[in-house]
Amino acid sequence: MTNKELIKKAAAVAKAKKTKSGLFADVGCALLSEKGKIYLGSCAASGSNTFCAEQIAIGQMITNGEYKIKKIVAVWKDEKGATFVIPPCGNCRQFMREIDESNLETEVVLDRDKTVQLKELLPYYDWWQRQE
Ligand SMILES: [Zn+2]
Repeated sequence: MTNKELIKKAAAVAKAKKTKSGLFADVGCALLSEKGKIYLGSCAASGSNTFCAEQIAIGQMITNGEYKIKKIVAVWKDEKGATFVIPPCGNCRQFMREIDESNLETEVVLDRDKTVQLKELLPYYDWWQRQE
């Protein structure tokens, strides 16, 4: 699965819809699990709750009994439909780490030809300095 193919899948589920109390699906996420399955998610931000697209995709993966992410990407579309790859927010970075420590090796797609490991987006993730 190339970055370009995964970006295309994430973009396909970014279909913004505004409602009286929220904005939904302006961000889409596609992830490739360790077992080779694709999970998709769209963000949901209502007046009472906010879920990132990554959280929705990861929730589907967990529901299917999987916890290891091989590769993940999120994209945002502007009002004119231009697509931008965006990095996961801090909460999602930590969430990916916490569902399985091996996800520190997850490839996070930042562009068609740029990928970083999750641990690079979590500097000091293992910083525990005992104090007297
Ligand atoms: Zn997030």
